Amino acid sequence: MNEFESLLRPNIRKLVPYSSARDEYKGNEGIFLDANENPFENGFNRYPDPYQHQLKDRIAQIKKVHADQLLLGNGSDECIDILYRAFCRPGRDNVILLPPTYGMYKVAAEINDVETREVSLDENFLPVLDKILPVADANTKLIFVCSPNNPSGNVIPEKFIVDLYNNFSGIIVIDEAYVDFCPQFSFVGKADRFPRIIVLQTLSKAWGLAGLRLGILIAASGWITVFNKIKPPYNIGVRTQELVLEKLSDKEQHTDQVKAITVQRDRLRNELLQLGIVEKVYPSEANFLLVKFSQANEIFEFLIRNMVIVRNRSSVRGCENSLRITVGTKEENDQLIKLLHDYQVKTSK
Ligand SMILES: *Cc1c(COP(=O)(O)O)cnc(C)c1O
Repeated sequence: MNEFESLLRPNIRKLVPYSSARDEYKGNEGIFLDANENPFENGFNRYPDPYQHQLKDRIAQIKKVHADQLLLGNGSDECIDILYRAFCRPGRDNVILLPPTYGMYKVAAEINDVETREVSLDENFLPVLDKILPVADANTKLIFVCSPNNPSGNVIPEKFIVDLYNNFSGIIVIDEAYVDFCPQFSFVGKADRFPRIIVLQTLSKAWGLAGLRLGILIAASGWITVFNKIKPPYNIGVRTQELVLEKLSDKEQHTDQVKAITVQRDRLRNELLQLGIVEKVYPSEANFLLVKFSQANEIFEFLIRNMVIVRNRSSVRGCENSLRITVGTKEENDQLIKLLHDYQVKTSK
């Protein structure tokens, strides 16, 4: 890399990575007696490609970036952990989080013994630059920006991110787990202009592959070289690579499902707004709605008794009396609305 190498932990800068059998001989043909594998073919007796070349070529095509700008993880959660291990010296460095937001940033910080400094979003779930900048110091390595934000659903404005970039010298991580529902807001493809921005995406949401576990980190290729040294050599299994490649080929189904979910989200919002028990439906560009109710805990329990499970965020600061509702199929959403109607009738008597 690069002018920003000094942001990395010194031990990582110096790290000589594990060199796997597949690193030392890259051919596909031959008699492989180098990795202590079982020689009897069963489809899985060989180690997977440690750099997932075929899969990355396909993802690069879809995301319109170069394959060397991609790191694949066992879910985004593995990518988040790699970021901490690359940049944050345990017990010394710190990161800034903007709550209410995704809980894993903080847990991964605690696992890595990294201090978190929290600067709350405002009442519209927007970040306030003037409150964030004074909190950063020379040891602030990462700022996590989740956009669209979980659990609020709103996009963080581009202007904020650019201003933050120009006034903060560390790494900005933009978690775009839900960006397929609003692709116009993505920061992918801007690595030349913003080499200190690292984007996280996932196949767990819009692509419908939560069970396969595939997180995507997109960054300037110099960073990827470093992260490749940190990740476990064979972190994505043979079957996952095959299945994901297969699932990614149905671009049309993906587009249709995103469209259907978006239509249902807007319809669900309208129906919720008709209900007296609903105080507010926050604007969302994602596949969920944060909804403020008159009595969120009671409604949450009522829904569970009727076999509809939503996420109760009432105990999260800034989300008082709010439930996070994932957009389901039309039929599932019908059920939810009907139950909320029933609840309203029952409690207004
Ligand atoms: C769901 C979600 C993820 C996805 O994590 P995976 O480990 O890839 O399933 C990442 N970030 C946010 C904000 C999420 O809501």
